Amino acid sequence: MKERLYLFDTTLRDGAQTNGVDFTLADKLAIAGMLDELGIDYVEGGYPGANPTDTELFSESRKLRGKFTAFGMTRRPGRSASNDPGLAVLLEAHADAICFVAKSWDYHVRVALGTTEEENLASIRDSVRAAKARGREVLLDCEHFFDGYKANPDYALACAKAAYDEGARWVVLCDTNGGTLPHEVEQIVGAVCKVIPGDHVGIHAHNDTEQAVANSFAAVRAGARQIQGTLNGLGERCGNANLVSIIPTLKLKPEYAEAFEIGTSDAALKKLSHISHALDERLNRAPNRHAPYVGESAFATKAGIHASAIAKDPATYEHVVPEIVGNKRKVLVSEQAGKSNVLAELERIGIKADKDDPRVGRLLDIVKEREALGYAYEAADASFDLLARRTLGKVPAYFDVTQFDVNVEQRENAKGERVTVTLAVVKVKVGEDNMISAAEGNGPVNALDLALRKDLGKYQKYIDGLKLVDFRVRILNGGTGAVTRVLIESEDEAGERWTTVGVSPNIIDASFQALMDSIIYKLVKSGAPA
Ligand SMILES: [Zn+2]
Repeated sequence: MKERLYLFDTTLRDGAQTNGVDFTLADKLAIAGMLDELGIDYVEGGYPGANPTDTELFSESRKLRGKFTAFGMTRRPGRSASNDPGLAVLLEAHADAICFVAKSWDYHVRVALGTTEEENLASIRDSVRAAKARGREVLLDCEHFFDGYKANPDYALACAKAAYDEGARWVVLCDTNGGTLPHEVEQIVGAVCKVIPGDHVGIHAHNDTEQAVANSFAAVRAGARQIQGTLNGLGERCGNANLVSIIPTLKLKPEYAEAFEIGTSDAALKKLSHISHALDERLNRAPNRHAPYVGESAFATKAGIHASAIAKDPATYEHVVPEIVGNKRKVLVSEQAGKSNVLAELERIGIKADKDDPRVGRLLDIVKEREALGYAYEAADASFDLLARRTLGKVPAYFDVTQFDVNVEQRENAKGERVTVTLAVVKVKVGEDNMISAAEGNGPVNALDLALRKDLGKYQKYIDGLKLVDFRVRILNGGTGAVTRVLIESEDEAGERWTTVGVSPNIIDASFQALMDSIIYKLVKSGAPA
C-alpha cells in the first residue's frame, strides 16, 4: 500500500510575486487549467480582496478537479472573527479550501504584528473555526516556521498545534526566507511530526540557497505529506520549490515512487515539458534550457564518446527516459524518435496520422526548419494544427489577401494635441469577389486586425465572434540578426481560445501571419465550406 502525498501549487499566489510577472484573470484561469491537467491536488488562486484580479477570480466557482484554494490572513489581533472585513472577504470567496497565513515566530508576533503570543494563537484558532464553520477545508501556513522553531520551539509548535487541534486539515511549515538547510528541515519536521501526524503536515520551501527542492524532499523523508511549490519555481526573490522538478522525482525515483502515490498520472507526466514551456511562453519568458527534466538541454549530449554510447543504449547516460516527461533526446534525435514526437503532438491535437506516411517525415522537417527560424509551435497550437493539416491533408484556400497597406501618421488634431492615427486597408479576394476594407485602430496591428476581419464575404459569419485577446512580442536573436516573434491569442463566441505565431524581421509581417493563421484556424474549426 502506497501512502498518498499531496501537491499544493501556489504559482498563482506566491508565484505572482515573481519580478516581472503580472497575471491577468485570463492568465490565471489558463494556468489553473494547466495545473488541473497535471493532477495538482490544491490550486491556490490568489488572495481575494487584495487586488481586483484575485477578487474577480474568486467571485464565481471555477470548477477544477483540484481544490481551488483562497489565501489570506487570520483575523487581525484585537478583532473578533465576525468583525474583520478581510476575513469576511476570504470566507465569502468561492473556494473549496482556505489557506491562512499566520506568524509562528514569537519575535515576529511581538515586533511585526505588535501583539501578544496568546492573542496570535487565539487568532489562529478563531480563523480556522470560522472557515470550518463555512464548510471550507482549512490550511494554515506557518510563516517563518523554521526560524521561529530555532528561536522558540515551544511557541512555533503551539501555533501549528492550535490550527491542527481546531481541525485544520493541513499545517504547513514555511521556510519563508529560504535560508534553512536540508538537514535542519529534516530534523525540525521530524520533531513536528511527533506532535502532529505527518499526513497533516506540509512543507513550503523557498529557494534562497538553491535547496527548495531538496528541502521539500527532506520534509517528506521526515514525515510531511504535502509539498507546496510553483511551476518552473516561480516566486519572489529566488523562487519557490519547483514542482516541475519535484513531480518527476516523485514519480520516477524508486525511493519515492515505491512509497508514495500522487495525483499526477503517467499520462499527465508526459505533458510536463509542454506545460512548463507553455507557461514560459505565456509569461513571455525564454524557457530555461538547462531546467532539470524539461529543459531543452536536459537530455542533450554533445557528439563524441557519450553520444555513441547513447546511440548503443540511452540508459548508459540518461537517468530517466526523456519521453516519460514529454521531453526529447537531442543531437541524436533519430528520424524515428523525431517522428514519434511529431506523432505524439498530432495525437495531442486530435489529428490521426500513420507513422509510415512520408508526409509525417516532411512535417517533421518543416517544423525543425521553422523552429530554427524562431517559430514556437509548442506555444502556438493552432499554427501547428494548420501546418500539420496543410502538410498532411488539405486546408481550403478560403480567401486570398492580395494586398494590404498600413499607414501610421502623427499630427496635430483640431485642439492642437499630438495624436497618432493608424489606418489599415486590406484587399481580399474571396472566390471571384474582390473586396476592400479599411479600418482605423489604436496601432498598426489593431488596425490591420480590424480591417482583415471587417469583410470576408461569405465567410464573415464564421468569424463574427472572433476576437484578439492577447498579443505578445519577443525579439529573437537568430543566426542572421534580430527577428520578431508575435504570438496572438484569440477567442471565439464559445470562449474557446487558441494561439498562433508569426515570425519576421518586420513586426507587421509577423503579426499578419499570426492573424491570418488565427482566422483560417477558426474557419477550419467551424467547418466553413471551401
Ligand atoms: Zn512563500
